[in-house]
Amino acid sequence: MPIRVLSPQVASKIAAGEVVERPASVAKELIENAIDAGATEIRVEIRQGGRRLIRVSDNGCGIAAQEATLAFARHATSKITDEADLSHITTLGFRGEALASIAAVSHVTLTSRARGEEAGTLLRLQGGEIVRHEAHGGRTGTTIAVENLFYNTPARLKFLRAEPTEASHIVEMLSAYAMAYPELSLHLIDNGRLVLQTPGNGKLCDVLIKAFDLSVAQQMLEIQVDEPAPADDLAARESQPGHEIPVRVSGYVGGPSLHRASRNYQMLFVNRRWIQDRALSYAVEEAYRTLIPVGRHPVAVLNIRMDPVDVDVNVHPTKREVRFRDPRAVFSAVQRVVRRAVIGQAPVASVASAPTPVLSDEWASRQSYPSPRSAWDMVPNRAQAAMEIQRTADVASPTAQSVPMLERLPMLRVLGQVRQAYVIAEGPDGLYLIDQHAAHERVLYEQLQAEQATMKAPSQALLEPLALEFTPSERSRLDGMMVSLAAFGFDIAPFGGDTYLVRAIPSALKAAQVRAVLAELLEGAGEEADAVPPAQHVLAVIACHSAVRAGQTLTLDEARELIHQLEQTISPYTCPHGRPTMIHLSSLQLEKSFGRR
Ligand code: ADP
Ligand code: MG
Repeated sequence: MPIRVLSPQVASKIAAGEVVERPASVAKELIENAIDAGATEIRVEIRQGGRRLIRVSDNGCGIAAQEATLAFARHATSKITDEADLSHITTLGFRGEALASIAAVSHVTLTSRARGEEAGTLLRLQGGEIVRHEAHGGRTGTTIAVENLFYNTPARLKFLRAEPTEASHIVEMLSAYAMAYPELSLHLIDNGRLVLQTPGNGKLCDVLIKAFDLSVAQQMLEIQVDEPAPADDLAARESQPGHEIPVRVSGYVGGPSLHRASRNYQMLFVNRRWIQDRALSYAVEEAYRTLIPVGRHPVAVLNIRMDPVDVDVNVHPTKREVRFRDPRAVFSAVQRVVRRAVIGQAPVASVASAPTPVLSDEWASRQSYPSPRSAWDMVPNRAQAAMEIQRTADVASPTAQSVPMLERLPMLRVLGQVRQAYVIAEGPDGLYLIDQHAAHERVLYEQLQAEQATMKAPSQALLEPLALEFTPSERSRLDGMMVSLAAFGFDIAPFGGDTYLVRAIPSALKAAQVRAVLAELLEGAGEEADAVPPAQHVLAVIACHSAVRAGQTLTLDEARELIHQLEQTISPYTCPHGRPTMIHLSSLQLEKSFGRR
């Protein structure tokens, strides 16, 4: 489509506001333009954190010579024409404002040649004014160089951070687009140094290796897409009220042993647009609840696909916020798909069917593996474990394809107890050291959860009610929580002053543990009077206090029973706080350690 200036009516419907906040926002707009132009190769060069220079070159369709100046006009775009187009946007850009806004605060040089045109154009602007315009040779595609950003707006220059910080925002942004568009070959050169390069072979896993690092990428699980195909007929869907809109989620998520201190490793895309959405981030984090440590964040790269009519991208000028027509459907699709990938992609009951590889063959075929880990290592999440097996299998037969599911514990034979804290056991592949407290916590937690699900939390009435004292701040929280604690088997009532009477407690607890459990629950609760801790937290606290402790001697039978119960759990490898329940020394590692290999 030719570039045209939008009518004032359409322009007024576009979310207004400043898009050029910092160098990374300039780079983002330029990348989006290159992608919209159908580029397969994009090269980005930055100097001094992008303040001195941001140059983006693409091999896309180019800008027609007679349209070059128009591209820098406000509300000039080739991507939409009327208001109706705003309701189903399929391009990254549509506002027609980026080039105008960027040109107003920098020195811009455009060179471009449109496909099929004899000559291209060179255009130079300073503070939005054209200072040079001439014919120019060169290959098909577009290069836009933005120099001296904010040279004429010192106030905004002042807000920029140190150069490495601004550069890191650009790297993060480019990594995101590389993940959303794995078929795109991207190069980023920062002060003359190549810092990111993607092969453009269409494989997301190869981009993850480049963007995250091999050791991180190897711990990621591919989401197996088996959602129903989206129904195309909008009218048919709308005639069925309450019917969820079709949402498909693809990508990779980290195994439970992969977690980070920040959420920077969570990349969300909607129809390949990089977005920010607190509710969806929460959906991802929720799926990892009890699997990773509190305060840590999972790694995820998710592309959510849906009909463009079901998502409004015209919310915020930076286009990173979107509004879903059915937010609940999107939230639950994300949570469901992530949880399924993390817990296991095939239900365990169906072992009869051929095992699904947890790893795409992609990973397995990658030749370079990280340096061998130390002998005693955490029992890997399934991805690592499967990789380990795949690796061993590769040695035996290079054609080994399928990877067994390792979601349940292997059969373990208990050998004894070490330091009154760890159960030592032998499995089909070497030795296991199991933390008795963490393992028991996991067992109790899942038992409590099952009881909770049937709505009959076993409660024991105390022969002699416990009179407990609470501090004033504890009291206000306890008052707000008392009713909801009843659902877990507590019967607590005020007894006047600082004192409360506890008449019944969850069967899993002993009376002596009640004060500590309540203290921990109250401590975790928010300041608001009616803040109710999530069920998982209450159950985890109860499980933690009633579980066998380190320092307790277990008989061989008791240890066997514990391991037997752990075998029945859904997530045997981590305690409800996300810490490992065991470490594993494989037969291979044993043999290597003794020099037999
Ligand atoms: P928008 O992307 O919202 O349309 P921009 O101001 O970013 O607005 O760009 C204006 C127009 O310039 C685009 O609609 C497009 O036609 C053209 N354009 C910008 N960058 C490129 C590019 N790299 N390749 C081809 N055309 C481009
Ligand atoms: Mg644009």
